[in-house]
Amino acid sequence: MVLIQKCEDYNIDVIRDLIDQSFKEFNIYDKLDSTKKVFIKLNLVGPFEKEKGITTHPVILQAVLDLILPITKNVIVGDNPAIRDQIPTLKKCGLYDTIKNANVEILEGTDFTTITNSNPKIYSKFEVSRQMIDCDLLINLPKIKTHSLTYMTCAEKNFFGLIYGLNKSAWHTKASNPLEFGEALNDLYGALLESFKDKTLFHIADGIIGLEGEGPSSGGKAKHANCIISSTDAVSIDRVAVELVHLDYEKLYVNKIANDRGYGEGDINKIEIKGNPLSDFDDIHFLAPKDSLGSTGIKFLRHKFVRNMLLEHPQIDINKCIKCGQCATICPVKTMKIEKGKYPHLKSNICIRCWCCAEVCPQNAIYKSKRPLLGRIILKSKQ
Ligand code: SF4
Ligand code: SF4
Repeated sequence: MVLIQKCEDYNIDVIRDLIDQSFKEFNIYDKLDSTKKVFIKLNLVGPFEKEKGITTHPVILQAVLDLILPITKNVIVGDNPAIRDQIPTLKKCGLYDTIKNANVEILEGTDFTTITNSNPKIYSKFEVSRQMIDCDLLINLPKIKTHSLTYMTCAEKNFFGLIYGLNKSAWHTKASNPLEFGEALNDLYGALLESFKDKTLFHIADGIIGLEGEGPSSGGKAKHANCIISSTDAVSIDRVAVELVHLDYEKLYVNKIANDRGYGEGDINKIEIKGNPLSDFDDIHFLAPKDSLGSTGIKFLRHKFVRNMLLEHPQIDINKCIKCGQCATICPVKTMKIEKGKYPHLKSNICIRCWCCAEVCPQNAIYKSKRPLLGRIILKSKQ
């Protein structure tokens, strides 16, 4: 079951009421008392202002804290940003004061545990932040955003943030083609589900302001979807979100894998929708990331030499670049390089097209080149 609530701005009283209704609908209060530990998982991909629609909005966090803290004070908040330290990132995103004023703990970024998927497709073990797992209730606060690699990111993909900082980009090297990365994300999600089989996962996806185009960070454009979507099933939320913003479900391959594995319900006709019907959002249309491929095209790109021949690669806009070097730091195969005082450059035949560089670029200075002619011809038939 998924609850869709129409909401057009970040008014704390309105949002607190909506999330209160959602907690009641999913019996979340029944699972809480003063002894229970709660972890609130943010989307803290990088340091971006709240108006940009990239990171968890402080009012959503405030509303959740207002409702949870009177029941239990045992609350930890946080995420593992891709590259920056958590505290400056929280400050830039407008979340730090909310957390400090509520007097709750912030995630300790260097304390890990291993979670296991007993029936993985590829990877069985994941080193993740211990505090995110050692809780009775994990409340996941994703944004509804497009994503250059995975087409969209919402509830399920937000759990990639269980993995610490640069270890995330190492996973892009391990699972370097898009399909394998989708399987790896699902192996991780399966491991999380196993860890929580006697505990509770709850997801509140914020699309009041989401992100369209070249998400999930500075390359995308803030866009109102005017909704909050909540559920205990991340797969259902993501399926409903793609429908609500009128993107193409055929391209949401991470969700299709999750559905096929039985990790949640991805069939829109089988998901019970409460609250506002999808028809209330007929006017919401998000722009997809450029040249995104469907499941057939993704399968075609398994081999690196095929990706090199057919796919676009990152390019630097020197009018925007401030030579900060973050793209080079995160590049998992070290093909993006920067010398002191110069603009970054890359060897495109080593690039694995993970788009981590674009994700961390604070200036939206990394864009996709034009797709090579051969790619335009061959992949057109496999969109
Ligand atoms: S492209 Fe972006 S991340 Fe890379 S050096 Fe320039 S501003 Fe920094
Ligand atoms: S250059 Fe960018 S897209 Fe290519 S491998 Fe490095 S981080 Fe990934």
